[in-house]
Amino acid sequence: MPDIKTNIRRLRSSIPEGVELVAVSKFHPAVALMEAYDAGQRIFGESRATELSAKAMELPKDIEWHFIGHLQTNKVKKVVATASLIHSIDSERLLRAVDDEASKLGRRIGVLLQLHVAKEETKFGFTPDELLEFVTPKLVASLKSVSIRGVMGMASNVDDEERIREDFRKISSTFRKLKTACFPSDMGFSIISMGMSHDWPIAVDEGGNMIRVGTSIFGEREY
Ligand SMILES: *Cc1c(COP(=O)(O)O)cnc(C)c1O
Repeated sequence: MPDIKTNIRRLRSSIPEGVELVAVSKFHPAVALMEAYDAGQRIFGESRATELSAKAMELPKDIEWHFIGHLQTNKVKKVVATASLIHSIDSERLLRAVDDEASKLGRRIGVLLQLHVAKEETKFGFTPDELLEFVTPKLVASLKSVSIRGVMGMASNVDDEERIREDFRKISSTFRKLKTACFPSDMGFSIISMGMSHDWPIAVDEGGNMIRVGTSIFGEREY
């Protein structure tokens, strides 16, 4: 196992104040998460519903679980019961399903709207134009148990730093447009989740305030 405690401490000391670290622990065993926990980490990100539930049962109750993977509507119940923030809302149907399930459980849950700006075609999410059309004050007012807290996105998987920077800029500017249009006085709408192990410094540079880092903390994943 890599030296997870050292990795976490190093990372935390290089992240600017005001930027939240989500430790992406998918595919890593509970003992690895405990190493990070013992170094003070409390926010963990998982991408599969079953794995999230199993780890949440086993690990300390003061962990804040974030769901970061593609979410199918049949897994919503499981995720809503455990997660405090879902980063990956990519359709109206999913948003409504999360709202209904949270209402049934009498639970409030935060969500981020996933943006697609990368050049890869397989990624999920709304384009900036789709999102700006979809989210209206009326939609926001219709949600019973969901708080829209911001946006999440990924940059293109390329070496070209300018391209990566441009993608992050699109995510930030879409956040600002949404804020002005629908959340001007909502202090809770404040999260720009972007940046992973290899590109988080660029993301933070471009306004990201929540980064999702896995490999640099836990090492390579074995799928
Ligand atoms: C796996 C994953 C990450 C973490 O990626 P690393 O390269 O391991 O830091 C971040 N965000 C999402 C959405 C992921 O699925």
